[in-house]
Amino acid sequence: MGVFYFCTMVDFIIVGFGLAGMSFADQLEEHNKSYVVFDNDSQRSSRVAGGLYNPVILKRFTLAWKAEEQLAEALPLYNRLQQQFNTEITYELPVLRRFNSVEEQNTWAEAYDKPTLQRFLTPQLVDKNTYAGIDALYHYGKVKNTGRVEIVKMLDAFKEKLTKRNAFFEDGFEYNALEINANEVVYKGIKAKYVVFAEGYGLKQNPFFNELPLTGNKGEYLIIKSEALKLKEAVKSAIFIIPLGDNLYKVGATYNHDDKTLKSTIEAREELEKGIRKIIKVPFQVVDQMAGVRPTVLDRRPLVGRHAKYPNLHILNGLGTRGILIGPTVAKALYQNIANDIPLDKEINIKRFEDRTF
Ligand SMILES: Cc1cc2nc3c(=O)[nH]c(=O)nc-3n(C[C@H](O)[C@H](O)[C@H](O)COP(=O)(O)OP(=O)(O)OC[C@H]3O[C@@H](n4cnc5c(N)ncnc54)[C@H](O)[C@@H]3O)c2cc1C
Repeated sequence: MGVFYFCTMVDFIIVGFGLAGMSFADQLEEHNKSYVVFDNDSQRSSRVAGGLYNPVILKRFTLAWKAEEQLAEALPLYNRLQQQFNTEITYELPVLRRFNSVEEQNTWAEAYDKPTLQRFLTPQLVDKNTYAGIDALYHYGKVKNTGRVEIVKMLDAFKEKLTKRNAFFEDGFEYNALEINANEVVYKGIKAKYVVFAEGYGLKQNPFFNELPLTGNKGEYLIIKSEALKLKEAVKSAIFIIPLGDNLYKVGATYNHDDKTLKSTIEAREELEKGIRKIIKVPFQVVDQMAGVRPTVLDRRPLVGRHAKYPNLHILNGLGTRGILIGPTVAKALYQNIANDIPLDKEINIKRFEDRTF
């Protein structure tokens, strides 16, 4: 509680600067609102994420929830930031789905007949011998209009911009230091009209919103190096193999409902290495391992909205396994709700959990 910031008045305080907090900051930039950000690097979901955006669920060959409209919101944002920061942040990266059976190949052909999927699925199968380093008994299905976002680079560039104007504090937000008045909040000398909490799984420490059913799901990735693999596309089998350049690949991820720490584990490494050996036929070495907790929600929908008792406190969370696609859409919805009173979609509004205990 010791630190006091220069006395200032802003429109918003944002707590947390992962994909959720950054997407909201972008809304504030767009609408010329003043704000400061607090982030203490206590959660890492955005920073360890594979960085893929892919609207198709590759288990069932269906479109993910509202994926088409989320893509329309997300890509312009990442392209805009790419231009603004003058560095490569996003690029197209097709995904090859490695089939496990003839039945899967047939299901793919059936899926292609659905009008909503035609933009993303390629009807011609990709030959199983395309990559000598991959053990493929059947052909691949190619998903297009997918890509990758260099999330760490993007967050760091945005953070640098905010740091230069004294709007980014690398500090943990202390909830009990927040004074809440009718028309403003005061936090250690900073007056603001609103606070937007975007702490990812860190929400569990937030006394204002921690009753919401954020379940959390830990995921771990390995970074491997392989000179012989030579993939130009991401390959999805039981695991994802994502080319990063310089013969490096991100391989994963695991799913764990029980462990909510950020520690890399031997179990995950063994699981992933076993998975790799089933698919990759060429030599590789593990060069790194990383872990994060996905902010997943009981009903698999984001957590967005206003506190029932304190109308100047808001939440932007629950981006789950697809933060790149979902973040920009829900950040815009929350901004429009706060600034222009435009109602939130019932599916994302935290009001759906009022009167429910978990
Ligand atoms: C292994 C893994 C792979 C993934 N792969 C993909 C992928 O390929 N594509 C995709 O779309 N999504 C992917 N995801 C999901 C995606 O990462 C999440 O949906 C998204 O990053 C969540 O963003 P967030 O901002 O809500 O949370 P976070 O990224 O966790 O950010 C929350 C921030 O709040 C800060 N914070 C918390 N508490 C406080 C506090 N009290 N004071 C100050 N700061 C605080 C934290 O330090 C953190 O920076 C993956 C996730 C994991 C774990």
